[in-house]
Amino acid sequence: MDANITKRNELLAQRVIKGLASRNMSGYYAATREEALAKALELIEPGATVTMGGAMSAHEIGLVKAVQEGGYHFIDRDKIEDKRAAMLAAYDADVFLASVNAMTEDGVLVNIDGNANRVSAIAQGPKKVIFIVGMNKVCDDVDGAMKRARNVAAPINAQRFGLATPCSKTGSCANCKSADTICCQFLITRYSRHAGRIHVILVNDNLGF
Ligand code: SF4
Repeated sequence: MDANITKRNELLAQRVIKGLASRNMSGYYAATREEALAKALELIEPGATVTMGGAMSAHEIGLVKAVQEGGYHFIDRDKIEDKRAAMLAAYDADVFLASVNAMTEDGVLVNIDGNANRVSAIAQGPKKVIFIVGMNKVCDDVDGAMKRARNVAAPINAQRFGLATPCSKTGSCANCKSADTICCQFLITRYSRHAGRIHVILVNDNLGF
C-alpha cells in the first residue's frame, strides 16, 4: 500500500474507531492483512463455535481458512444440506464473521441482504460479531454508505450470483422489485446495546466489494 494512502487510512481509521466507541462497539486498525488476521484470531476463544455470512473480506485475509483449520467448531453452511438448521445453528454461534457493505466515518454499519440470514445474525443471535472491513468501504455518512451498498456492493453480488436483476446488467441500482432482488432488508447498525459484542477490524487495504 502506498505510504500516503496508508497515512490517510491510519488517520481515518482512528476517527472511525472513535465513532465506534461512542456506539458501544470496538474498533481496531490493522496495517496489513496479516495483522488483521492475528487480531481476529485473538478475539476468538479456542474451541468457539464460529460461522459466517458471505464475508469475502474474511476469506481475503485468510481468516476463514485459519478457523477451518484451527481448534474451532466451524459451521459451514455450504456443507449443511438442511439450510434452516444451518441458519438456526448460526444464530446460536459464539462468533459470527462478517463484513459490511459500507460504513460511515463515525462508525455506523450498513448492510443489505436478500435472505436476511446475515443481517439477522448481525442484529441478534451470535454472542460476538467480528467484521473485517477494508478501508475502501468507509464512506462520509449514512447516505454515502447506502449509495455504496446499492450501487457498488449489491450489483457486484448480483452479478456474482448470476441473479436476474437490473443492476446485474447495468452495474447500478434501479431500485427494483424483481424476484431476485438482494435488497430485501437494509440493516443500519448505529449502536450496540451489548458491550463487547461488535468488533470491527479496519484493514489498510481494499477488501471485498
Ligand atoms: S434494488 Fe435491485 S437493482 Fe437495486 S441494487 Fe438491489 S437488486 Fe440491484
